[in-house]
Amino acid sequence: MNNRIAELYKQIHDAEIELNAIRSTCPHSNGHHIMYYSWRVGAMYPSRICNTCDAPLNGITDEERDKFLKEEAEKNKKYRLEHGIPEIE
Ligand SMILES: [Zn+2]
Repeated sequence: MNNRIAELYKQIHDAEIELNAIRSTCPHSNGHHIMYYSWRVGAMYPSRICNTCDAPLNGITDEERDKFLKEEAEKNKKYRLEHGIPEIE
């Protein structure tokens, strides 16, 4: 393997360790917002996201999910209209 590639993998690994350490000590007490969260390629769902550490949190309500999806649909519709992109049925 190219040495630079190996170094970049190490940086990613070290960053993931630091990120997990920060998140594991965050009290998640500064509120949350709703955003798509993806835990693997091809899977993306609305989730509560901590405002401080950006970690996904458990406990999204049906109301939060429905409001988020409705707002996303409106944003997408507006974008399609502005850019002349036909709607996919
Ligand atoms: Zn947090």
